[in-house]
Amino acid sequence: MSAEQTDGRKMCELHAAGLMEQADHRCDDPKFVCGKCRRKANKAEYLHNPLALKKSAGDNFWS
Ligand SMILES: [Zn+2]
Repeated sequence: MSAEQTDGRKMCELHAAGLMEQADHRCDDPKFVCGKCRRKANKAEYLHNPLALKKSAGDNFWS
């Protein structure tokens, strides 16, 4: 599958399709999380229902 075909896809769709490599490029510095499937992404446009990640809380999010 070419990059052009994957560019228009949501993170959620890339994961669902098993395209983890393409998906990883879109979430190396996540600013948003999908309200539907909880995927993270750098840009809101990569998600179905983007919610902004709170940067101040982000550092402690996983602890
Ligand atoms: Zn989603």
